[in-house]
Amino acid sequence: MGYVDLHLHTTASDGVKTPSEMVRYAKYKGLQAIAITDHDTIEGLGEGLAEGERIGFEVIPGIEISAEHSPGSMHLLGYFIDTSDSLLNERLKYLQKAREERNPRMVEKLNQLGVHITYEEVLKVSGGGQVGRPHFAQVLIEKKYVKNFQEAFDRYLKKGAPAYVDKLRFTPAEAIRFIQEARGVAVLGHPNTLGLNGYGELERLIADLIKVGLKGIEVFYPEHSASEIAQYKGLAERYGLVTTGGTDYHGLEKEGLDVGVGKGDMKLPYSIVETLKTVRNQS
Ligand code: AMP
Ligand code: ZN
Ligand code: FE
Ligand code: FE
Repeated sequence: MGYVDLHLHTTASDGVKTPSEMVRYAKYKGLQAIAITDHDTIEGLGEGLAEGERIGFEVIPGIEISAEHSPGSMHLLGYFIDTSDSLLNERLKYLQKAREERNPRMVEKLNQLGVHITYEEVLKVSGGGQVGRPHFAQVLIEKKYVKNFQEAFDRYLKKGAPAYVDKLRFTPAEAIRFIQEARGVAVLGHPNTLGLNGYGELERLIADLIKVGLKGIEVFYPEHSASEIAQYKGLAERYGLVTTGGTDYHGLEKEGLDVGVGKGDMKLPYSIVETLKTVRNQS
């Protein structure tokens, strides 16, 4: 059995490779399957699935939805979603609009801070896909306002930084329900970004999310420490959740990260995909 990567971004959101390039690259890297999980959009899935068919490579239609949460951020992954589900498409359009309202406001804030960039420059960098903060970061780097991605986020773009503007999100229960309505399996992405205080808080959150349909937890992730991985595995076992993983490869901002292997030490067996399929067919 081969290996998989279940968390990847393409040009449909803030990744660098087009969906077809991603699929070809994953095959070239010797993987057995990937999931494309762009932020709040399924626009890249048609192309990715078609390329998979063409070259004989398994592509799982996925998504990563940002949900309302504080103090950190909550991302819910959806696997095996039905891309033709018109309800999901409609709901995602709502998020696109929210982004289109937020983005120019971030440009305004940057301008007020003496950072002279235009929305056209950001749009150009985004290459026609959905616009996100990594595109702002890229413009800031190109125009020499910052040295790298981390500085762009720390000084301007991260939650709470001076150019940050929040955007409308779904609640966790809504995001999970929308994934389920499109026949997808909902998984809590990288729990280490939730900003929770200790095991107890995470356990309570997970118990609540399970009540509204959560089926899995992303345990294997490049930014998770060994002790976090152990903790998330324990929670998954205790609550009967599927343990998934992926690199969250975007292709640009996270240097030293590659598809399928993350920082070099990731190995996710194809059996994860089989378990996800079983869970999907049970619900
Ligand atoms: P957006 O879709 O505009 O909310 O941007 C979200 C993306 O920005 C995430 O997927 C990350 O790639 C990146 N990002 C968010 N927060 C940070 C941070 N503190 N440091 C670096 N990158 C970040
Ligand atoms: Zn991203
Ligand atoms: Fe994420
Ligand atoms: Fe991601």
